[in-house]
Amino acid sequence: MCEFCIKHGEGKKWYLQAKNYSDDLLNDIDRRRYIEDFLAKPEHLEREAEQLDSLDKTPKFIRGIVKRLVSRRMKKIHYGQVVPIEELERIFGFVNSVVRIPCICRHITLNQEKRYCYGISIEPNGGKYFEIMRAIDLSYLHGPDSVGLESLSREEALSSIRGHEHEGLCHTIWSFHTPFIGGICNCDRSDCLAMRATVTHATPIMFRAEYVAEVDPGECIGCRECMRVCQFGAIGYSAGTSKAAVDQRFCYGCGVCRSACAQNAIRLEDRAKAPVAAGLW
Ligand code: SF4
Ligand code: SF4
Repeated sequence: MCEFCIKHGEGKKWYLQAKNYSDDLLNDIDRRRYIEDFLAKPEHLEREAEQLDSLDKTPKFIRGIVKRLVSRRMKKIHYGQVVPIEELERIFGFVNSVVRIPCICRHITLNQEKRYCYGISIEPNGGKYFEIMRAIDLSYLHGPDSVGLESLSREEALSSIRGHEHEGLCHTIWSFHTPFIGGICNCDRSDCLAMRATVTHATPIMFRAEYVAEVDPGECIGCRECMRVCQFGAIGYSAGTSKAAVDQRFCYGCGVCRSACAQNAIRLEDRAKAPVAAGLW
């Protein structure tokens, strides 16, 4: 169980607590202002990505301190967690409104419009969250179908997100001034700034999932499709046995390998029950 579950989930999964998606939390003026700035001024993310790149060149001692400070600050304002598809299905069981928006990270890293991000709310018609999104300057949106917000039904959103999983993308949920949760993203290691920070630069701004993957060697035929899609390099292959195996110390529990396995040889298990991964977030 990650620290947010203890702090913001009353000992249960924090992202399954409906109150964390509610308008009540959005009544906080600072939170509303943060969301407005976050979406209207994406260049701040570009600056932060550049700072992380240059941080890698500083002495190890300074680097360690700065990374801890960045991580602590992000836990308060904008922190994520990897979630497998079945957890998103549970979230969509109580979320009322969904809009699909272009991913800010891809706007910065690829200069392309990629609609991989979803704004979610439990309030009818989106509540205050969507008022905010409608009101801000979405000038980073560009391209022919970028006007306004693209509203989806829960079923449409889930179907679209399942498609992202088949593209090899890893699902994450995001807080905006924790514990309010307002977004679901579909990330990859090269284009997503959060994954780059967390995995490439070892500056965590998202938790791993509450799960880890395990391969059933009795079912595995050694095709290595799972290795191809794992964004975290957590799967190895034994030429001796012709089987794949997950190194759970590196596994983020996204479940994307499971979708790629035609043999259904991969399952997710509770992180808490995996001795090597239980304390890794
Ligand atoms: S995709 Fe499935 S069958 Fe293929 S190597 Fe991975 S676990 Fe084994
Ligand atoms: S091993 Fe599977 S569940 Fe674990 S990080 Fe890789 S793709 Fe995700």
